[in-house]
Amino acid sequence: MKDYTMNTKCVQAGYTPGNGEPRQIPIIQSTTFKYDTSEDMGKLFDLEAEGYFYTRLQNPTNDHVAAKIAALEGGTAGMLTSSGQAANFFALFNICECGSHIVASSSIYGGTFNLIAVTMKKMGIDATFVSPDCSEEELNAAFQENTRAVFGETIANPALTVLDIEKFAKAAHEHGVPLIVDNTFPTPVNCRPIEWGADIVTHSTTKYMDGHGAAVGGAIVDGGHFDWMAHADKFPGLCQPDDSYHGITYAERFGMEGAFITKCTAQLMRDFGCIQSPQHAFILNLGLESLHVRMPRHVENGQAVAEFLQQQPQVAHVNYPGLKGDPYYERAQKYLPNGGCGVVSFELKGGRQAAEAFMKKLKLAAIETHVADARTCCLNPATSTHRQMNDEQLKEAGIPAGLIRISCGLEDKEDLIADLKQALA
Ligand SMILES: *Cc1c(COP(=O)(O)O)cnc(C)c1O
Repeated sequence: MKDYTMNTKCVQAGYTPGNGEPRQIPIIQSTTFKYDTSEDMGKLFDLEAEGYFYTRLQNPTNDHVAAKIAALEGGTAGMLTSSGQAANFFALFNICECGSHIVASSSIYGGTFNLIAVTMKKMGIDATFVSPDCSEEELNAAFQENTRAVFGETIANPALTVLDIEKFAKAAHEHGVPLIVDNTFPTPVNCRPIEWGADIVTHSTTKYMDGHGAAVGGAIVDGGHFDWMAHADKFPGLCQPDDSYHGITYAERFGMEGAFITKCTAQLMRDFGCIQSPQHAFILNLGLESLHVRMPRHVENGQAVAEFLQQQPQVAHVNYPGLKGDPYYERAQKYLPNGGCGVVSFELKGGRQAAEAFMKKLKLAAIETHVADARTCCLNPATSTHRQMNDEQLKEAGIPAGLIRISCGLEDKEDLIADLKQALA
């Protein structure tokens, strides 16, 4: 599949049926797999042979879909997880342990911020958050002796900031650690972080990859370029024998291409069990088959809605990296030449009352805590996800009370604009 374009990979990568086999990826709805001898099964446990024995570790349906996502991102190995939260936790915890430190962009998804700043801190893993717009000096100053990973989002949810992937990758590599990028919003159709120097890519497949609001899921892809053995002192989990897995040294046995995902599967999935069900993987793949067709329409609608909103007297300002004049426009032109995503945020004059009244009048855009669906949805953080904060606190967090996040779906843009027009009126 390497020689095919993104469009063809979305449809066909990851699964090539043999003669007489099902055309569509079969849902292998089985917890376990049978063997003729214990010896056969023993080889699987020792990671000496490839095969399946228990779905918590690996399942053929999931593996086909993970292989497709790895192909789309240009990676060497991939795995599915039960959610985007699990993907980010696994990607970080695969190389961090008690006493480690993470450098993360401060402009990331709220759930991931909590994961790193609160939950992983309780596990003894510290973090320093830096602005995605920090200077190289500020970025380099955030590193410590015990830093093990750098983390950011290509387009942050919901701030819509764009990460300077090359700058973050350079700093990470100068300090001997990998850059992990959550590429949920643009998807590999619009940006492939590995091509810009990122080492590991994560996804909430719940968003555009599924794209139909049907199945929660996550994915991790390894670019296969990070030389763990060159920094063996930092990554003992990959570079020293794993006593819990028959003394295997992952980086030796599976090389740069396979060590990260093999350890993540054999160790973290074994112990935490955050698997995606084969049913969900099947639904996710239906979404992936049209991802390259859907993303340009999400972008077209997002761009049209952002341009419309910018001209309305009731709107204080609009955030969308595709808008000329947006602080992230130049960076988006570099990393997202075909556009980013369909999510736009804008501030209504008149604060939360105006936002509430406006959203009540919308007919096509439904009020939901979701984004990246085929159906347009919207949210006012001040009256929903951030309702515990007063106006002063919201302002400090960069989320004015009148801010609305709208995720433009796949409807006709003229209908979406007409809906916004009547609600503004
Ligand atoms: C939604 C989201 C997540 C969390 O994913 P879930 O599938 O909801 O667990 C992580 N990162 C980003 C950028 C997201 O938008």
